Amino acid sequence: MYDYDLLVVGSANADLVIRVERRPAAGETVLGSDLAVHPGGKGANQAVAAGRLGARTALLARVGDDGHGRLLLDSQRAAGVDTVGVLVGGAPTGIALITVDPSGDNSIVVSPGANGRLTPEDVRAAGSLFHASRVVSAQLEIPLDTVVEVVRNLAAGSRFVLNPSPPRPLPAEVLAACDPLIVNEHEARVIVGTALGDSPEDWAAALLALGPRSVVITLGADGALVAERAGARVRIPSVKVEAVDTTGAGDAFTAALAWRLGRRESLAEAAAYAARVGAVAVTRPGAQESFPTAEEVAALSGVLPGDDPATTGRKGGSEGLAGEPLRGESR
Ligand code: ADP
Repeated sequence: MYDYDLLVVGSANADLVIRVERRPAAGETVLGSDLAVHPGGKGANQAVAAGRLGARTALLARVGDDGHGRLLLDSQRAAGVDTVGVLVGGAPTGIALITVDPSGDNSIVVSPGANGRLTPEDVRAAGSLFHASRVVSAQLEIPLDTVVEVVRNLAAGSRFVLNPSPPRPLPAEVLAACDPLIVNEHEARVIVGTALGDSPEDWAAALLALGPRSVVITLGADGALVAERAGARVRIPSVKVEAVDTTGAGDAFTAALAWRLGRRESLAEAAAYAARVGAVAVTRPGAQESFPTAEEVAALSGVLPGDDPATTGRKGGSEGLAGEPLRGESR
């Protein structure tokens, strides 16, 4: 029996956001809005997304012994995530200093802080979490050595999902464990390292040649493509929505897909569900604030809560109930 549907190993950051009329040039000072502090980081985001959907989720991460660390722990707990694996101390909580101008362009400085101190030893010490988890997911905002150690500590029968963001070339040992490797176009380019072909099908073939058991390519408003080593390439349509902010869509998609794979859905079924989760997330501003509950996902696809959207005759899944693009709910 597994205690957790999903163990997320990754980063936790405080996002410090200031709106400015103009982003400062070198040597310049500009006045901005009041500071807004949001919980973020790809690991923390994935865990919150899964927890909010109802997945039994644990997070293995490191935060500082400071106010930002407490903010991150609070947001995990509010989403129902087990924080027994969140280590505290060693460095300040990771932060992203973000300035955003009226056109939406931003400048970001990231201080990895405690994320950079999540070590291979921390992974080995969390062996009981690995044995209790059906699926393990990771990203690359923590040291690559730590991700390698994650792969070495997977329990027999568990499944590993990697979103290599920010992207960098990956060792064969990590690639071989991915089932799936989840990338957007930019990440695919960096991982493959040579010129990509024209179509997402070509990118998938190039990625599969590097060793992962399966690949999912996310294509924003164009949905996703799933490809298994021995199977067909399947296009997953997106759900038509009015996007207001795509921040965190990839994290919500990855978390939902990882959770549904643990429920023994096929990769295409899990990706179709994840596309609906990503679609709800883009209708709302922010990252963690935008992640939906399972009921909200069911409402988007016209399926009643409690029904299983993957098996209730949804065809294609590209429209709202009345065939109209769906709008974000006011919150
Ligand atoms: P990333 O942020 O990693 O680049 P994407 O932007 O591709 O990821 O988003 C992940 C998934 O979220 C997509 O595959 C799609 O299913 C969904 N999604 C993203 N943007 C939209 C959109 N504008 N409309 C509908 N669904 C979207």
